[in-house]
Amino acid sequence: MKVGGFQKVSLVDYPGYVCSIIFTIGCNFRCAYCYNHSLVLPEEYPEPIPLEEVWQYLRRRKGRIDAVEFTGGEPTLQKDLIEQISRVKEMGFLVKLDTNGSNPEVVDSCIKKGIVDYIAMDVKAPLEKYMEVVGVCVDTGKIKASIDMIKGFKDYELRTTLYPALTDEDFLKIFELVKGAKNYFLQVCSLENTLKDCSHLKQFSEKRMQSLKKLTYNFVNYCEIRR
Ligand code: SF4
Repeated sequence: MKVGGFQKVSLVDYPGYVCSIIFTIGCNFRCAYCYNHSLVLPEEYPEPIPLEEVWQYLRRRKGRIDAVEFTGGEPTLQKDLIEQISRVKEMGFLVKLDTNGSNPEVVDSCIKKGIVDYIAMDVKAPLEKYMEVVGVCVDTGKIKASIDMIKGFKDYELRTTLYPALTDEDFLKIFELVKGAKNYFLQVCSLENTLKDCSHLKQFSEKRMQSLKKLTYNFVNYCEIRR
């Protein structure tokens, strides 16, 4: 596993628990609004952090850290993801997996092996607009499979970035995709330092965010705006 970043403590990323975050190197998407350049663009990849350093920290902090999150980049691209998650589980931590949904087979294996406790997935666009938003060819059947699989998992969140290039009609189609979700978040989109130039786009107004949030209640059980 190639680790490009390690956040020792987060109080907000795993609901109700203190977690550490492992950021893996490499992503198969190129979302215009992505701000994680160094984990996405090969020419900007950082020197990987030795995994042993991560394990040493986690061993020392057992009891004070409850959970470990695997995020990226896109963690499901790592060939040894299952092995490394299993290792973290054996150490006694809860595990959160954060994915873009492009590899449902990997998510399925994690679920079947019982090595993940919480899954988070970004639902980025209506299926017909996915390629436009993520900037690469994508098998939308896999995206749909991931959404449906995660909706059947015990503890999860689905979320959508409030990308200003999406229309209200797009959001309605996204809400159909996430219909029935237990936890759904609308994330404010940062337009600075993005992968592609987003400076011409206009941030969502508070009014529009609130009206979208209100609309979600016809589709999901819980929705919050994440800032
Ligand atoms: S925002 Fe898009 S490009 Fe950036 S890490 Fe996530 S999936 Fe990859």
